[in-house]
Amino acid sequence: MNIILLGPPGAGKGTQARHLVETRGMVQLSTGDMLREAKDSGTEMGKIVADVMARGELVTDEIVIGLIREKLEAGEGAGFIFDGFPRTLAQADALGELLKATGQTLDAVIEMQVDDEALVARITARSTCGACGEVYNDITKPQPADGKCSNCGASDFKRRADDNEDSLRTRLMEYYKKTSPLIGYYYAKDMLATVDGLGEIAEVQGAIAKVLD
Ligand SMILES: [Zn+2]
Repeated sequence: MNIILLGPPGAGKGTQARHLVETRGMVQLSTGDMLREAKDSGTEMGKIVADVMARGELVTDEIVIGLIREKLEAGEGAGFIFDGFPRTLAQADALGELLKATGQTLDAVIEMQVDDEALVARITARSTCGACGEVYNDITKPQPADGKCSNCGASDFKRRADDNEDSLRTRLMEYYKKTSPLIGYYYAKDMLATVDGLGEIAEVQGAIAKVLD
């Protein structure tokens, strides 16, 4: 089963993807992770990525699609979760072609819907464990009182430097301009499911499970 998690920055896609990885053995494909992994892998695609990054150029859609192709062909795990890709209609078309070419299907596109103002409040409250990446939130999931990560016990928490309101609004605009058209795109393909992304993490998990089962 292959799915896309769709939603604005800070909607909780990463948290939900990690839960699906843990509970269902799915494999999360996030563009950033794939690029880092490829760079260190020494594969053909990896050398191309390393070159492009060394020259300080932007990674093209073709490269990302190439990396996804490698993953699909390796076919590990119980299916893939696309997180942060596709980001544009052109990428959605390309992903559709690639899945078809590799004999795979896209089984669900889950839109995590959140109110913009709530999103601003939520994202500025977010921090992560510097050691394991566990996500905390001042409102919904505060850092443990003993100052130690509940997942790995480290005590080095980070707040993303760009988690301030201005940069969030810039990223939101980017999402509305380029990515939100995917909601209509997948709705028209009869693949879209919408969950309320603002609930408790467990509630959102339940809503997503309902879509997948
Ligand atoms: Zn940790």
